[in-house]
Amino acid sequence: MIQTQLYIDGQWQSPIDHGTRAIHNPADEAVIAQAAEATRADARLAIAAARKAFDGPWRQTTIRDRAKLLNKLAGLIDRDAEQLARLESINTGKTLTESRTDMGDIAATFRYFAGLVASESGAVNEAPHHVISRTLREPVGVCGLITPWNYPLLQAAWKIAPALGAGNTVVIKPSNLTPLTTHHFTQLVAELDLPAGVFNLVTGGAEVGAELAESLDVDLVSFTGGAFAGESIMKAATGNFKRIGLELGGKNPNIVFADADLDAAVDYALNAAFFHAGQVCSAGSRLMVEDSSYDEFVSRLAERLPRIVIGNGFHAETQMGPVQSAQQHEKILGMVQAGIAEGARLVHGGKRPAGDVFKQGFWLEPTLLADVTADMKIAKEEIFGPVITAERFRGEAEALRAANDTPYGLAAAVWTRDLDKANRMSRALRFGTVWVNDYHPYFPEAPWGGYKASGIGRELARIGLDEYTELKHSYINLAPKAMGWFGA
Ligand code: NAD
Repeated sequence: MIQTQLYIDGQWQSPIDHGTRAIHNPADEAVIAQAAEATRADARLAIAAARKAFDGPWRQTTIRDRAKLLNKLAGLIDRDAEQLARLESINTGKTLTESRTDMGDIAATFRYFAGLVASESGAVNEAPHHVISRTLREPVGVCGLITPWNYPLLQAAWKIAPALGAGNTVVIKPSNLTPLTTHHFTQLVAELDLPAGVFNLVTGGAEVGAELAESLDVDLVSFTGGAFAGESIMKAATGNFKRIGLELGGKNPNIVFADADLDAAVDYALNAAFFHAGQVCSAGSRLMVEDSSYDEFVSRLAERLPRIVIGNGFHAETQMGPVQSAQQHEKILGMVQAGIAEGARLVHGGKRPAGDVFKQGFWLEPTLLADVTADMKIAKEEIFGPVITAERFRGEAEALRAANDTPYGLAAAVWTRDLDKANRMSRALRFGTVWVNDYHPYFPEAPWGGYKASGIGRELARIGLDEYTELKHSYINLAPKAMGWFGA
């Protein structure tokens, strides 16, 4: 049985009150680990350690030191990739193939930021000849990083790599449902000779996250999760006007025009909605199909859904695992029922799959609700499970109006062979990512984040590093002379 601890000020330790939490395998509900469950008091110790390290020797590191650190971490992730992938799958329920892909992406994220950090240089500004004016990038300080349960180590990597690379110190709090890979990653950090307090792990629930958001000693909080927690973090952050980055939920339209390559669009619609059992912030759960292709599209999906192989993520043939928790399972079933009550037509799924193997664990059939209209709750709210809703639209203007009529703005996709229409839609959709004739690709070089209620700020890309820096104007007068503004 895995037992995890906290990592504070360079030391592995138990929470002050010795709290633990059982961690479950969502495929069979078996207890797979006992994780340390910290309280605010532990978070305060971690914040103090990070503060001391930031105000101490860590400030003297060079960009070369930090780029080297990120590259070393990438190498250690590669070394332990299989072990990390297995931990991620047993804790989240996702297939091993997905987790292995995540580990490759995580190592790539560290290498990408290592390259950016290494190429970092301040700018020298045009100024009078006796003045040196420079624009410098400096670390923000102590960063509180709070991550969700759906992509535990990937989301952590998007924050840790730029935060450390920019010269900050870190306190990370993973979701208390899925702490195992972040704990293993911390063991990798502990192999390196970082000064104590530069990297701290505090596993626990909302109160630990709230302490990070409220603490006057934390300079930046970066949060990925739901809108409810995001709102309280934003309010708490006003205590010292700390920097915030929020990556929140989405309701992402996947818009198929009648002139699209329908074979590809049907195939991608499945991937958009059912990858990781739909527990993806950018999941294309809101399918919108143009009127003349709608019936054909829905019947082609209906034919494909029963063929999706549901099962334990460790089995090679499995295409979709369970959802992560009992709470999610219940919430998703409730949303499906609410959709049916509003008038949606249940075409497939909406229940636990049959068979003894699915009696324990948080299993759901891939679900298709058709004839959904834009005013229904099921078309507006994030489901975060293996459910696709199909809406009909007539023409470009209606598609655009309905797609943008959501408080969210994370990701959208458009399927068409008309490049002019593709370009018009890409420009007019108010989402942080718009894919055309594709779904889901993301990579470290491109920014990730949402418009509107999907968040504040961006991760990845150049801006994903800049978010962890302060800009300073350094002005040095090399030849000061009395200016006589107020006379002699
Ligand atoms: P959640 O908001 O319940 O929890 C996220 C994290 O915040 C966890 O570590 C949790 O312990 C902590 N937390 C909860 N309440 C808190 C509070 N009041 N103060 C501080 N911390 C608190 O989210 P979740 O259920 O773990 O994740 C699912 C959500 O995350 C979905 O809405 C999904 O769309 C979103 N998400 C967004 C992105 C993105 O890139 N935009 C990526 C992944 C997930």
